[in-house]
Formats: sequence, structure tokens, C-alpha cells
Amino acid sequence: MIEAKFESSKEAGACNACARYTAPEGSAEHEVLVISLSKSDARSTSFQICRPCLTELQKALLPEHHCFPAPDEPYFQLVARDALSTSAINRWVEAAARAGVRPEKLQGAQRRVQEILEWQSKHGSKLPD
Ligand SMILES: [Zn+2]
Repeated sequence: MIEAKFESSKEAGACNACARYTAPEGSAEHEVLVISLSKSDARSTSFQICRPCLTELQKALLPEHHCFPAPDEPYFQLVARDALSTSAINRWVEAAARAGVRPEKLQGAQRRVQEILEWQSKHGSKLPD
């Protein structure tokens, strides 16, 4: 089983992947994602990763995605099951085209609309709950 939850930490070296919060003057409060892995035979392990390292991990896992939010940057996510996702993306493409966004970016969004439509034809879609 995999469990993951964000916790606030003031512990120096709380992130297992970097030394960002281990300044000599003391560590600043920061968020860490605590990931716990456990198997039915009672073997378990856990590790902690800070937000900037989580962003690096996302980039490594999904190299085709090159637009990740900064650790403190709000964002809005659409999923294919959302019946409104393609119209929302199409409205964005129209606005982006008027604003002069480069064609490759628009084509990427249009490809994603096609992928969503294909997914929806197999799995359906619904309005958000
Ligand atoms: Zn880190």
C-alpha cells in the first residue's frame, strides 16, 4: 500500500533528496510529502521529499510535460472524464491564438483535445459532481 500526505516540517534535512532546508542558521518551515510504502508481510519503508524535489521528480517521471507549476503556484487541472474539459481547452486555444501564443503550443493543446475525445468515446464523460 502506498500512502502520501503533505506535512509541515522545521526539521533540518527533512527531505531525503536535498539539503535545501539545512541552512547553518537553522531550517525554515517547509512542506514535505511523506510517502509510506508497506507490504502485507509487514515490511515497510517511508521517505520524505520537499516541494521543489517533488517538482523535479514530476519532470523525471513525465518528461513530455514541460509546464509544471512552481511549488507555491496555484493551478487548475482538467481531466478527460470532465464533460466540459474539451470546450474549456478549446476556449483557451481561441484566446491564446488571439493573444499570439506560438502555434506549436496551440497544436499541443489541440492534440490533447483529440486524445480526450478518444478517451471519452471509450470511457464516457460526465459533469463534475
Ligand atoms: Zn528536497
